[in-house]
Amino acid sequence: MDLTFSERERAFRDELRGWLVDNPPSPEPSDGGEDAHYAWRRDWQRRLYDAGWAAPAWPAEYGGRGASLTESAIYFEELGRARVPFAANTLGLLLGGPTLMVWGTPEQKERYLSPILSAEEIWCQGFSEPDAGSDLASLKTRAVKDGDEWVVTGQKVWTSGAQYSKWCMLVARTDSEVAKHKGLTYFLMDMEQEAVQIRPLRQITGEAEFNELFIEEARIPDANVVGGVGNGWKVALTTLMNERAGLGFALQIRLRQLLDDVIQAAGEKGLLENALYADKIADLHVRCETIRLLAWKGLTDAERYGQPGPEGSLVKWLWSDTNQRATQLAADVIGPEALTSGTSWSYELMRARGNTIEGGTTEVLKNIVAERVLGLPRLKVAV
Ligand SMILES: Cc1cc2nc3c(=O)[nH]c(=O)nc-3n(C[C@H](O)[C@H](O)[C@H](O)COP(=O)(O)OP(=O)(O)OC[C@H]3O[C@@H](n4cnc5c(N)ncnc54)[C@H](O)[C@@H]3O)c2cc1C
Repeated sequence: MDLTFSERERAFRDELRGWLVDNPPSPEPSDGGEDAHYAWRRDWQRRLYDAGWAAPAWPAEYGGRGASLTESAIYFEELGRARVPFAANTLGLLLGGPTLMVWGTPEQKERYLSPILSAEEIWCQGFSEPDAGSDLASLKTRAVKDGDEWVVTGQKVWTSGAQYSKWCMLVARTDSEVAKHKGLTYFLMDMEQEAVQIRPLRQITGEAEFNELFIEEARIPDANVVGGVGNGWKVALTTLMNERAGLGFALQIRLRQLLDDVIQAAGEKGLLENALYADKIADLHVRCETIRLLAWKGLTDAERYGQPGPEGSLVKWLWSDTNQRATQLAADVIGPEALTSGTSWSYELMRARGNTIEGGTTEVLKNIVAERVLGLPRLKVAV
């Protein structure tokens, strides 16, 4: 792994850094609630899009810049450095678009990719169900063929951003006669139909970032099957690998910022002289560096072997654990303000609770690391 940037990479970084200085996001709205906040992020994505910075890693033919993986990492580092918000259509940009690029038909790419980039059409991920989270292949939502359409009935849960979404990456069962992961199909479901009801689920932070979806005979045209009927498991894995690799890289940069803020606050309060705090901060610093280098190694492997490897699970596990520790330390350093509703510190503390569940629980990630990174024997569960 060589972390020295080439001339081209340095030019890429300098151009983006300059653009971010000249084009900061508009001020974060202080009222208007979640909808106003989301509109603000949508507006920010639109600005990135207009300047060609919404998804530089996408090939130029789809509206990106054909950036290399290293340039893509630089992109996330610079966005983090500038402390700008996440683009509104994060799931479309990091998960949906890349999945369509691998599995989509030319018509699907032509139709869907551009509105993802511009945030005109927001995407959500309809994978989890009340009885199928970690064990995704057990999902029960059914799709039955009716002429040149599919009729879908079932329930999804924890669907982030569904309330703003036009399209849902939906995995449904199309064949219950075959082995469970072979009977799945990946669809693009139009969320704007009566048959899809969205009910918000309020989190500990007070916001309703995710939702329940009740689907009662929703219609999906055959043209919206992605990757072929019965091939949904493989297509879903592409989405999940992009979730752990792409999102993982962006998130570890946010963690570094949070820790830097904690260190600054600890310094201002004279706590860096206190051995207890200094020890915890040093531990978190080492963890952050480890995660950063692992994330870079993941990119190098992806560049070398053509796809992200199972190490992405290690980054996601260490990031979620370290982010929880960092937000807890922040509460000790900041004091009562960090435990007061409505402050950014209390938001970080409470939002971090879900980190060890979303995008793969820690237990499941540890299984993947044990089996696929360390090569330990597979766990056999007695039945
Ligand atoms: C903030 C947030 C946002 C989310 N957004 C989305 C979204 O947009 N779309 C979407 O589809 N889903 C989303 N999810 C759902 C998330 O992917 C699931 O919660 C996760 O996959 C776990 O599934 P589950 O909740 O059904 O728990 P379960 O799978 O039922 O797990 C329960 C417990 O059992 C443990 N466990 C399960 N299997 C094993 C095993 N084999 N070995 C050891 N332990 C095991 C788990 O670690 C966990 O502790 C989101 C979740 C959160 C918290």
